[in-house]
Amino acid sequence: MIPFNKPYLTGKEAHYLYQAVLSGKISGDGMFTKKCNQFFESKYEFGKVLLTTSCTDALELAALLLKIEPGDEVIMPSYTFVSTANAFALRGAHIRFVDSRSDHPGMDEDKIEELINEKTKAIVPVHYAGVASDMDKINDLARKYGISVVEDAAQAIDSWYIGRDGRKPLGACGDLGCFSFHETKNIMAGEGGMIVISNPEYSGRAEILREKGTNRSAFFRGEVDKYSWVDIGSSFLPSDIIAAFLYAQLENIDDIQARRISLWNRYKNQLIGLEHQGLLATPTVPDFATQNGHMFYVVCRNLDERTRLADHLKKNGIYAVFHYLSLHSAPYFQANHDGRSLTESDRFTDCLLRLPLFYELEDSQVDMICETISRFYTA
Ligand SMILES: *Cc1c(COP(=O)(O)O)cnc(C)c1O
Repeated sequence: MIPFNKPYLTGKEAHYLYQAVLSGKISGDGMFTKKCNQFFESKYEFGKVLLTTSCTDALELAALLLKIEPGDEVIMPSYTFVSTANAFALRGAHIRFVDSRSDHPGMDEDKIEELINEKTKAIVPVHYAGVASDMDKINDLARKYGISVVEDAAQAIDSWYIGRDGRKPLGACGDLGCFSFHETKNIMAGEGGMIVISNPEYSGRAEILREKGTNRSAFFRGEVDKYSWVDIGSSFLPSDIIAAFLYAQLENIDDIQARRISLWNRYKNQLIGLEHQGLLATPTVPDFATQNGHMFYVVCRNLDERTRLADHLKKNGIYAVFHYLSLHSAPYFQANHDGRSLTESDRFTDCLLRLPLFYELEDSQVDMICETISRFYTA
């Protein structure tokens, strides 16, 4: 059986875990956390980086930093993971869901402005499959109306937006960017996450909210002589054990990315023929985006065809999975939705199928998967 995902170990993880344990300091912000921060700040020139326990927590921290309150409105795509919405719903915000683009599951940037009003506090683009939303368009709207931009960059490590000012890493295009190191992502630590702070207005408060509302970080730097309760907060920092594991992955990021992108290209080259025959669609990457080998998917013509294709793959020993169900019609939310129909989001809900993609997947397995898909359409 070819699994859908297999977390890849670079080989150094256990060694660094051992080092972290032996160092005797395994709470947050230890030696390996500093190494991870330095890595991100130098490789991607991120403003300020704080590791968190998950991307979900990074999004919750973002909502706290933005001082989201009951009655506020936040705009995001309907086709996303529940955490994107929950982080803001937890603070009492009303979510305004936007349809997907027709060529990509990311949010349709041209349908955002009609939802903006005096209650709108933030736009939250999700860089689906590590492919950017059009950040110049989104940032222009944010500036015009004085609202914030939080990127859900959970899937978007090592991917770029190419805008009018050149190339920028995803997660650093808005005010705040949230990443995931869950084991299903390109770089993983089992569970883990990170918030990138590009708007310096938020940096001081971010480290306080992450440390239970205290100025303990400043205390450890010797900037204050005792630490106290100075704001609201929670505990969002991961143990240095998580950071030790993560650092082993980061040291190999170029190798991991090259392999995943090569697998992605192999899928694309072999399935493009079926796309030209109008039988299915493969992922498109807009001119303003790159892709980071996070995910390869096909889009079937309807729900029934997707169900049959997934069954056909399973019979042939291949696990393919679908995921997001449009959040605007989810049981928890549907009564609050304003009735707009989000047809592209519903189409991706019904028709998108993700194919196996992980570091140790072999070229011959990709070939076998593509042949199996071809047989489904041509037999
Ligand atoms: C994985 C993912 C998350 C959640 O990440 P966790 O680290 O598991 O909390 C949020 N948003 C998107 C788009 C994701 O893919």
